[in-house]
Amino acid sequence: MGYRARSAYSRPGAPTTSARPNLTPSAMKHAAEAPPPPEIVYVKEKRVACNGNGGALGHPIVWYSLESGSAECGYCDRKFVYDPDKAKG
Ligand SMILES: [Zn+2]
Repeated sequence: MGYRARSAYSRPGAPTTSARPNLTPSAMKHAAEAPPPPEIVYVKEKRVACNGNGGALGHPIVWYSLESGSAECGYCDRKFVYDPDKAKG
């Protein structure tokens, strides 16, 4: 009885075998999409605008106040630090 069930599962095209290959690539893709480490941007003004650097990863422009010294963008996770010395250039 157990032998019969086993031979049915090993048939090519069985639902179990066709579902498996789909699992691995999607899992690998998910791992490859891990978010990059947040970028720190030094600015010399206490107000900063962020639009996610534009391009494909851009987002609507948002303004942040750096009165407390730093702010983190809720869209792209970049951190803005008020530091006029490092913001040169
Ligand atoms: Zn942003």
